[in-house]
Amino acid sequence: MFDQVLREAVDERSRMELGLREAIEGDGLRLHFQPEIDLRTGKLLAVEALVRWQHPTRGLLAAASFITVAEETGLVVDMGRWVFAAACRQLAAWRRQFPHLKLVVRVNMSPAQFATDEIVEFVETCLRVHEIPGDWLCIEMTEHAVLQEPEKTARILRGFRALGVEVALDDFGTGYSSMTELKRLPVDLLKLDTSFVKGITTDPCDRAIVEAIIRLGSALNLQVVAEGIEGGPTIDKLLELGCSRGQGYLISMPIAAEDLASVLDAGTISLPALRAARSATLHPEGRPV
Ligand code: C2E
Ligand code: MG
Ligand code: MG
Repeated sequence: MFDQVLREAVDERSRMELGLREAIEGDGLRLHFQPEIDLRTGKLLAVEALVRWQHPTRGLLAAASFITVAEETGLVVDMGRWVFAAACRQLAAWRRQFPHLKLVVRVNMSPAQFATDEIVEFVETCLRVHEIPGDWLCIEMTEHAVLQEPEKTARILRGFRALGVEVALDDFGTGYSSMTELKRLPVDLLKLDTSFVKGITTDPCDRAIVEAIIRLGSALNLQVVAEGIEGGPTIDKLLELGCSRGQGYLISMPIAAEDLASVLDAGTISLPALRAARSATLHPEGRPV
């Protein structure tokens, strides 16, 4: 029984690895973008690029379902190059299409992508080819990545900074936060992890953690962005705690570039409309469901 289960798991993984390799070399990857807004005004500040796999039989897969395989097999390096180049290409197209646009495109990077200093040259080449100023881009990495090889990572991050590219620490608080490293690293922004943001209206512990991170950010002069906002009360609480940037399903799902056009054109997302739409779904006849 055990052998059988194990064999099936190994087979499934090999199939996934093979399929992912084909997707990277062929035309199987897509990018979705999730808006980040000023929670006070609805102004569009940034979009996060999130990789998707257009699977031949299983449909469009979110990163969460294949990123671990990509990381464990090293495929994440080639995938990451594709993602970064595609994000730059898309940003260049938006800059042409919406001349008044000003936003930052945030791109996730895994530790393996930091294995060589060449990543800085790669980023520089992409920016040059697509004529994008460095400060239109941000690279998101996790604390875990930072701490694997702090010296080398610091050197690479300084390389990004020299290009004007922002650096964000993703899922902040879930890794092995080292305050010493944080102090030394050229980081511009902390992303509050979904797991804490979800609980801030109900769980005093989550609220305390979020409050501490917001204070830390402000003391170290770092921006703080809340991820995973799913309800109006979460926005109110974040603003009360001093965090005014956020993203999450309430504001917008991650969506394809063409579906983002109206938001890019307007440069804003209407928060009252969002809240009204949300409460309409929750209370179809004026009462909770
Ligand atoms: P992340 O960078 O923290 O991205 C946020 C994840 O949370 C995304 O999942 C997004 O779809 C999801 N999300 C957004 N709003 C909400 C919300 O309101 N509630 C909840 N519960 N979730 C929300 P996704 O796209 O499946 O990505 C998962 C992780 O995979 C990312 O976490 C990131 O670490 C990694 N990833 C995604 N794209 C890339 C990429 O291009 N390169 C690399 N190296 N990693 C990537
Ligand atoms: Mg991220
Ligand atoms: Mg995150």
